[in-house]
Amino acid sequence: MNLVFLGPPGAGKGTQADLVGKARGVAHISTGDILREAVAAGSALGMKAKGFMNSGGLVPDDLVISLVAERLEREDCSEGFILDGFPRTIAQAEALDRTLTERGRSLDAVIYFAVDDDQVVRRLSGRRICGGCGGNYHVDFMPPASEGVCDKCGGELYQRDDDKAGTVRERLKVYYDQTADLIDYYRGQSLLMEVDASRSPGEVRSDVDEKLSGGRRQA
Ligand code: AMP
Repeated sequence: MNLVFLGPPGAGKGTQADLVGKARGVAHISTGDILREAVAAGSALGMKAKGFMNSGGLVPDDLVISLVAERLEREDCSEGFILDGFPRTIAQAEALDRTLTERGRSLDAVIYFAVDDDQVVRRLSGRRICGGCGGNYHVDFMPPASEGVCDKCGGELYQRDDDKAGTVRERLKVYYDQTADLIDYYRGQSLLMEVDASRSPGEVRSDVDEKLSGGRRQA
């Protein structure tokens, strides 16, 4: 099953992609995670991406397109994939269409996680990540048992630079300017399924499963 998870930052795409990917045995590909790893490793890709990411802007299309094309070649994508955070521009979506067509593959569905701006800001500004295992927390909605410490591995929790309030607003603006057009792009391909992502992760998960199983798409 080949899927794209689309929606604003903080809509819960990563959490859902992780759950659905594991349940269905398909690879979860987060371009944000790949780019953050490249920045942490100080690789050539990371050096090029860092400034764009810290300002809340998008990394140039050519860099992201080639990294996704390479990633889709890996063995763990043989049963399918969930793209989380890609595509983010029409040019990326068109490049993805070409890459898949060349390999005799296609998308089965695009899940659009709809959530309003105020909730995005509340979710992202309270989000904390474990430096040890990458686990996700939220200071209000999913706090760890002991403040600042990961429940699972004891690692220290930190706030992503781009989750700080000013950058979150910029990321939302970039989303509306450059990414939101993809909703119509995929609706036009009859691939879009919309999920109300303002609910709890469990409720969203059930809805995603139901939509994927029922194959209900919006025209
Ligand atoms: P995310 O974790 O998906 O919110 O991504 C974090 C940051 O990585 C974004 O704000 C962008 O700077 C960069 N990024 C991730 N995916 C893409 C993409 N498909 N195109 C361009 N930049 C991206």
